[in-house]
Amino acid sequence: MKKYLADRTALIDASGIRKIFNLAASMKDPINFSIGQPDFDVPEPLKQIAIEAIKQGKNKYTQTSGEPVLCAKIAQRITAQFGPASHCFAAASWKNPSVLVASGVSGALLLSFMSLINPGDEVIIGDPYFVMYKHLVNLLGGKCVFIDTYPDFGLHPEKIAGKITDRTKIIVVNSPCNPTGAVYSLNELKALAEIAAKKEILILSDEIYDKFCYDTAFESIASIYPNTILMKGFSKSFAMTGWRLAYVATPQHLKPIVEEMTKIQQYTFVCAPSPFQQAAITALDYDVSDLIAGYKTKRDIIYDGLKDKFELVKPGGAFYAFVKSPQGTGTEFVEKAIKNNVLIIPGCVFSEKDTHFRLCYTTTNDRIKKGVEILRKLA
Ligand code: PLP
Repeated sequence: MKKYLADRTALIDASGIRKIFNLAASMKDPINFSIGQPDFDVPEPLKQIAIEAIKQGKNKYTQTSGEPVLCAKIAQRITAQFGPASHCFAAASWKNPSVLVASGVSGALLLSFMSLINPGDEVIIGDPYFVMYKHLVNLLGGKCVFIDTYPDFGLHPEKIAGKITDRTKIIVVNSPCNPTGAVYSLNELKALAEIAAKKEILILSDEIYDKFCYDTAFESIASIYPNTILMKGFSKSFAMTGWRLAYVATPQHLKPIVEEMTKIQQYTFVCAPSPFQQAAITALDYDVSDLIAGYKTKRDIIYDGLKDKFELVKPGGAFYAFVKSPQGTGTEFVEKAIKNNVLIIPGCVFSEKDTHFRLCYTTTNDRIKKGVEILRKLA
């Protein structure tokens, strides 16, 4: 074939994960610990709102930045949470936040990186990381600077401090973290905020798993640090992965960033899906704690079931465990697990190392127990 493909396509390598899914294609009814989405469905009242919105003809483009009622409600929420009445350290900054409704946090990440990254700009990312950060930064000619967080998967502000250069533009914070389940404490976040403040570095806080915290309350760096680009998603908390909904918010002084993101949204996604934005208005008030409560039990089954046979840190949130391969590389152990009907993902998909595997425990407790039993035998 003539060379049609753009050079940038070579900057993304999906061969590792493809190999695993090729292997997995032959599995019959596997114990599937691979897919990062909840096993509950969108709550019925929220589905009904979306259905009604479709029936009422709310199917057209919304404003680029989002349905105004939704944007206003998000802004109000954020001001209530972090603004002047909240006594948060960064309270003054969050009085009139800028808001953009995006097509998932994925869409928000693309728009923000496109708005911010010049070739050569450095983005600090904790390793292991959510895959998209690395590939989007590379695609845009930016440079990922990875912070090795093994073996405890903490935030490690002191290591981050050592990697800051004149080209550092963004530090990505993802708590609770995919793939480790790590949840960062307020003290860790404060330490990072102090470091970032010295050079006014932007912090991009991906809080898509904020409702999935099992042992401590969720803490947002937005409450402390004014140069924060805050991202919240609907995919995980409300099981709306296919609805493609999320939002970005920044304090007023970062408004130009949201404006640029909105401009790029206008020429790419145009808007987030409009009937689902109607449901999101209600979702902001919808209590999913009952649905999520069951996930603490799942976390406990995994952790208690594996901890004496495997090296793993107790995940405090999200719905993943990042487990060390008992022998060989992560990929080798995953191949063995797949032959025994358990589908897990090698750590190298989320890391510069291939020593671990990721396990997503969003399936029934019985299936989790069965999977744990097989993994124990393999160890
Ligand atoms: N951020 C993290 C850490 C994730 O794990 C995911 C999905 O797995 C996303 C962002 C993207 O989510 P969505 O685009 O569905 O909002």
